[in-house]
Amino acid sequence: MRIAVGGIEHETCGFAAPSLTAEAPTLMSEARVWKYGEELRSLGDANTIVDGLVRGVRESGHELVPLLWIDANTSPPVTRESLECAIEDLLDRLRKALPVDGVLLSLHGAFAAQGVDDADGEVLSRVRELVGPKVPLMAVHDLHCNISPVMERAASVLVVERTYPHVDMAERAVHAARIMARTVTGEVRPTMAVRFLPLLWSAARMIDAEPPMSDAVGKLRELDQRPGVLSASIGVGYQWIDNPTVGTSVIVVTDNDEELARRNADELAEWLWDRRSQWQREPLPPELALDQGEQRGKYPIVFADQGDNTGGGAAGDATEMLRLFIERKLVPSAVLYMVDPDVAAQAVSAGAGAEIDILIGGKSQPLVGPPVSMRVRVRAVSNGQFTYDGPMWAGVVGEMGPSAWLEQDGVHVVVISGRHQPVDLAFCRSLGLDCRPMRYLAVKSTGHFRSGFAPIAGSIFNVDTASALSHDFRRLPYTRLGRRMFPIDPNVSWTGERQTESQP
Ligand SMILES: [Zn+2]
Repeated sequence: MRIAVGGIEHETCGFAAPSLTAEAPTLMSEARVWKYGEELRSLGDANTIVDGLVRGVRESGHELVPLLWIDANTSPPVTRESLECAIEDLLDRLRKALPVDGVLLSLHGAFAAQGVDDADGEVLSRVRELVGPKVPLMAVHDLHCNISPVMERAASVLVVERTYPHVDMAERAVHAARIMARTVTGEVRPTMAVRFLPLLWSAARMIDAEPPMSDAVGKLRELDQRPGVLSASIGVGYQWIDNPTVGTSVIVVTDNDEELARRNADELAEWLWDRRSQWQREPLPPELALDQGEQRGKYPIVFADQGDNTGGGAAGDATEMLRLFIERKLVPSAVLYMVDPDVAAQAVSAGAGAEIDILIGGKSQPLVGPPVSMRVRVRAVSNGQFTYDGPMWAGVVGEMGPSAWLEQDGVHVVVISGRHQPVDLAFCRSLGLDCRPMRYLAVKSTGHFRSGFAPIAGSIFNVDTASALSHDFRRLPYTRLGRRMFPIDPNVSWTGERQTESQP
């Protein structure tokens, strides 16, 4: 049997800093990975969804039909033209490969283009149109997906990651590929039920290693064991965009039993809804986290600067944590990473060993705080190329752009030119910076840093600084959600049906 594999992955941030939106990005301008056709055959080993799909098809003994894979950094909505280009390229390759017996796609699940709220739904609908109603079409999504009714209608099966950090990307993809393999041979006939909850989920409550998220993953594992259930997923949503797809969803896939799928999806959705307060967390200011951390006395204390999480679309140049480290003389400490191409270029041109005066960060918008004046020693410089080695992106090549390790009196800063979040220790190590002896670490990340930093952390606090990605949902400038949402509206009721009256 011939199984087509491809991916168009983009997480779209609608609340990014203005400097990032000056020019509309394209998928190409934000792409970390852009692979065509036969190039996909070399995949299978790294921890990405597409690697997992390729591996899963290969292990099933079916024929791999490679399409294309674009994986782009989180950015504001891409141009309509670049979305069209990518879809047309994907469809063209699929058209030439027809007939196929199944299509497996990696789609982030929170992708929007200018004028297109639901770009993932658009991709799935157009693929469905091309292959017809009978060919199984399955997609694997990031945990932070906003599943839409359009996606539900177009796809035969939707599978979502369960972990944060996303260490199970390849695993969930292999799971989907196995369902596909059993489907194309007629062994199973997937039936899917999706439920959409009016629930915004705090990122600090998505960490699967801790309760309450570990309870939710436990619930999914329990569903996995039930007779007739092929797959169960929760999409926790991506909240930093203003459109009607935003929200939590649950998906249950069964073998040829719609009623069973519906019943289990209802049960899972009600289980989440009954606990809706558990998925929320009040904002935590850095000073308060510092007090709690010192009381606990477990070092290094890691401050996850979730408001300036570059992985979520923030600019990565907020200065509140850096100022706190300097003003309170919190040493030895490190800030990972400040995104500031000007300072990175200045340091690279001065070279290792030089002492330079810099004005770092605080350039994207006033909200992120003023630039910080420092006199630093350049400890090391880099062209920014390295390979991730933590469990999340193990084997993936990183490109930080011109970068440097800077130090002023025990406060260390890694400055980079690209907009990337610290997912593991590999890049610091490539500069010669050892994070383990630090007493204080600030990372511009919400959850993914745990992939590499959890093993060395004494204590971890997700803190709320003044920066682009507020985790206080009541402060986000929503106007187009199309339904009342918890916790913005604490009294909202969920009836089991999606309120669709405001949908375009
Ligand atoms: Zn994610």
